[in-house]
Amino acid sequence: MIQHHPDDALLLGYASGTADEAVSLIIATHMSYCSLCRLRSRELEAIGGALLEDILPAPLARTARDNVLAKLDNVQPYERPARPAPSRDSTPAVLRPYIGGDLARVRWRRIGPSLSYVPLFRRGAVAARLLRGVPGADSGLHGHRGLELTLVLQGGYTDVTGSYSPGDLQVMEGDARHNPVADPGEDCINLAVTTGRLAFDSLIQKIAAPLFGF
Ligand SMILES: [Zn+2]
Repeated sequence: MIQHHPDDALLLGYASGTADEAVSLIIATHMSYCSLCRLRSRELEAIGGALLEDILPAPLARTARDNVLAKLDNVQPYERPARPAPSRDSTPAVLRPYIGGDLARVRWRRIGPSLSYVPLFRRGAVAARLLRGVPGADSGLHGHRGLELTLVLQGGYTDVTGSYSPGDLQVMEGDARHNPVADPGEDCINLAVTTGRLAFDSLIQKIAAPLFGF
């Protein structure tokens, strides 16, 4: 049972296509677990569409039709992409192109004895990565210089705000500080998106974080 969801502002950004790609990816991955948010996102899309219908149409430039027709002459035939093989470990379909297939086949980079990660992509200050911690792994007390969105893909973790299981999305921001610790059982694997660098308390982590792109 999923207990932690994105708020309407995040869902609206996703539904209207204005959210950053990394933020859209994590929201879409949450929605692959969460029928409630799929429904809410469609409602918000409908509201957005209704608002657009109220906007008065602007007159088209005379050349608009010719421009469109000229572009049509150059259109390349559409090639249907090969259908990807289904996931063997129920990795969400929307995430698979970003991690090169199934979660089970990801090649991890170690940060320390208990943590590893995989950088996915970065656009300006916004970064997406996978994080993995063995049971009991402690990610270190930190605050945030932007938004930090964390979606559990496997296992779970707990911090001062509560416990998070597969499909749960945690959103942390600004002065809010926390120290997520992986739950007992299997390794905890998260998709994490940050829109600004994390601010760690410990000196070692302060030094190490930028090296790893955190
Ligand atoms: Zn949800």
